[in-house]
Amino acid sequence: MIKESLRQILDRIPDSVTLVAVSKTKPNSDILEAYESGQRIFGENKVQELTQKYEDLPKDIEWHMIGHLQSNKVKYIAPFVHLIHGIDSFKLLKEVNKQGEKNDRIIPVLLQFHIAQEDTKFGFSLDEAADMLSSTEYKQLCNVQIKGVMGMATFTSDSRQVREEFHDLKLIFDKLKKQFFNGNSDFEIISMGMSGDYELAIEQGSNMIRVGSSIFGGRH
Ligand SMILES: *Cc1c(COP(=O)(O)O)cnc(C)c1O
Repeated sequence: MIKESLRQILDRIPDSVTLVAVSKTKPNSDILEAYESGQRIFGENKVQELTQKYEDLPKDIEWHMIGHLQSNKVKYIAPFVHLIHGIDSFKLLKEVNKQGEKNDRIIPVLLQFHIAQEDTKFGFSLDEAADMLSSTEYKQLCNVQIKGVMGMATFTSDSRQVREEFHDLKLIFDKLKKQFFNGNSDFEIISMGMSGDYELAIEQGSNMIRVGSSIFGGRH
């Protein structure tokens, strides 16, 4: 089942779009089934679960932290995390930098933007991010690398609204690219789209989708 679902999604998306298989709450056996059919990129949203799965599963898996991250927990994932999607404050970015330094690595991250109508979703506004990126304090961070942006659309069946929100994130990406990352080919990722809306997201410029339930089935 997992293999077939994975195949169907990969068949439907362009090669230029990276699929993050969101395995939160799912057992290692499910992850291994996806792994055996070639999937190497997995996403988790809880630090403890992510750390445990990292320890238990093959070491060539690229683990993405996609959920809300508390500063005091960065240290647990800093040694191995491949990409942190949810950087939503300067404070958190500075902590990731500090832990990157301790682990002698440069940690790749995405800035999360608040594009949804709901106020429960975390993230920067464009102004807040621009302030941070203009600051001298930011320019001194040597152990983080901002690789792009991430966002979540409102949970709604109104596809017009979802499309607009994804479009907003694409515009934010373009503005930041022009103003702060011009000529920097490492700033390239637009992480948007989940099981219910990844096709809309790709249509609006996503090149990284985070898909859970369409691969592994529903969660309780
Ligand atoms: C759970 C989760 C997903 C995947 O959601 P599905 O609807 O199961 O595809 C994507 N992104 C984030 C941030 C999540 O927490």
